[in-house]
Amino acid sequence: MTSKRLIVFSDSGDTVVDESTQTFDERGIVTGARLIPGAGEVLRQIHEEGFPLVMVVDGETQSFQNVYRQHGLDRYVDAWVISEEVGQQKPAPVMFETAFRAMGLTDADRGRVVMIGNNLKKDIAGANRQGLTSVWLDWSPRYFHTFEEPDWIPDYTVKTPWEIMPLLRAMEEKLNGEHNL
Ligand SMILES: [Mg+2]
Repeated sequence: MTSKRLIVFSDSGDTVVDESTQTFDERGIVTGARLIPGAGEVLRQIHEEGFPLVMVVDGETQSFQNVYRQHGLDRYVDAWVISEEVGQQKPAPVMFETAFRAMGLTDADRGRVVMIGNNLKKDIAGANRQGLTSVWLDWSPRYFHTFEEPDWIPDYTVKTPWEIMPLLRAMEEKLNGEHNL
């Protein structure tokens, strides 16, 4: 399988995991949760079609390990950037810069990175300010649903995870078209 030009960064809470179903231990660590319908399948397809996948997430490392192992999704993730380890949360640039370093990316690669997330203030604004392509998953009723700042406006909006793979494939095709000019 040839690896893809497009690199996928993704949020987790209310992008992959349904936050309303999370269970916690006494320390506030997530012990389990259900996935948004279709989201696990999307991570599997991202991996199997050869798109590098970096989870750029706010929370505790143990929480993500618990839920991703529960659903067998950890094997699809190429790198994790977790706020507990980085010391700041999205939209802090350091979260995205850490993801770039983890994948050996430079400024020249910004045009081939897409960030998927549910949170306009964290994921979409964070990605837009970094010059990445932003995809807003407008599935959860939680958090923001109005574009309070110009840089909260996503490049693309999808309502369910099922819409994500066709979009990624189209982006990859466009990148390859530009590359071959
Ligand atoms: Mg989220």
